[in-house]
Amino acid sequence: MLDQTHDARATSWVESANLEEAAFPVQHLPFARGDGRALVGIGDQVLDLTAVAQVKALPVDSLKQGCLQGLASPAARRELRHWLFEQLTSSTSWLAQNRQFLGPTPGLRLPFEVGDYTDFYASIHHATRVGSMFRPDNPLLPNYRWVPIGYHGRASSLIVSGTEVHRPLGQLKADDAEAPVFGPCKMLDYELELGLWVGTGNSLGKPIPIHQVRDHWIGVSLLNDWSARDLQRWEYQPLGPFLAKSFATTVSPWITTQEALAPFFCAAASHEPRPLEYLWDQQDQQEGALDLQLEVQLRSPQMQQPQTVSRSNSKDLFWTLGQMLTHHASNGCPMRTGDLLASGTISGESRESAGCLLELTWVAPGQPRQPVELEDGSRRVFLQDGDEVILRGWARREGFRSLGLGHCSGRAIP
Ligand code: MN
Repeated sequence: MLDQTHDARATSWVESANLEEAAFPVQHLPFARGDGRALVGIGDQVLDLTAVAQVKALPVDSLKQGCLQGLASPAARRELRHWLFEQLTSSTSWLAQNRQFLGPTPGLRLPFEVGDYTDFYASIHHATRVGSMFRPDNPLLPNYRWVPIGYHGRASSLIVSGTEVHRPLGQLKADDAEAPVFGPCKMLDYELELGLWVGTGNSLGKPIPIHQVRDHWIGVSLLNDWSARDLQRWEYQPLGPFLAKSFATTVSPWITTQEALAPFFCAAASHEPRPLEYLWDQQDQQEGALDLQLEVQLRSPQMQQPQTVSRSNSKDLFWTLGQMLTHHASNGCPMRTGDLLASGTISGESRESAGCLLELTWVAPGQPRQPVELEDGSRRVFLQDGDEVILRGWARREGFRSLGLGHCSGRAIP
């Protein structure tokens, strides 16, 4: 899967792509969508693929219409990547002579008009820590190690990074109260997640075999699954999350393709018991996980700079992205191009790697939560209005150019 597009020595005539801290070096080539425009990021610039497609035949046909649908074809996507790499590295290329197609990043939309959105629960550390709050003696439910747990989310409230998030209203019930009240959520939280974009789908009744699953997804984006913990606590049994989740989910506009991520795939986390046959594939076990360094930053209105409050890594997920996608389609449920599957909160084993405040401020049953201390002197157990949550992610590996996953941010407002 590695080729010349992963060569760390390659540089671009777009100078900003060659800076050491550049998130979008020429090895990355992440895709995004502006107003009627298909775009690819390079350094601090974007290349307008829709404009290029008017004058040049590109291997992905939907770009001319300003859509990214055509990226679903693995062959077309790879061919486009190679063409872009060639054009952006060679100073005598056609594009180097036609630099008017490059420009600053415009306002971005979600990469797709998402038909369906599903959220998984693939971090065993998250599931164990959250489970221990409710069932200290038996934190992990018996199905966890067998079934990739998920729920159907709401596509209509997916929002692009930078969009403000209204604190939701809902039913809240204090432990000692007899009846719930309706009002603003008091336990607003974020969840650090990775979103997976479905490429080629499957038809009704036809599952996606695990050994072919890589042909069915395009790439990943950072995702924040905002959560109202007090609404969630009261409503979630017996059918799982509902209004505690469906008010907003923030997604980064940038898709980092699986081709760009080729150097950063790694072995899946150790898995006991062995997954059932339909979820087990040797290649998926050996290189189905992604080594991405992720972090959560908070910024109150009083703070100039955001403050990192936790760090984790997607390689610690119990299920691979491929297993989640295969499982989702295993009953014959059709996946469609542009569907979004999220990983669930990505937490590590240590408390500092907790991907949400529910875990980060948790101490022990019966003990008060331990607030996060912010640099402006204030403290947070949950989010306050005005707080901004910023998710960041990096792919780093010795011998390769680092790739930045862009960022996924949102500010809580009343
Ligand atoms: Mn979630």
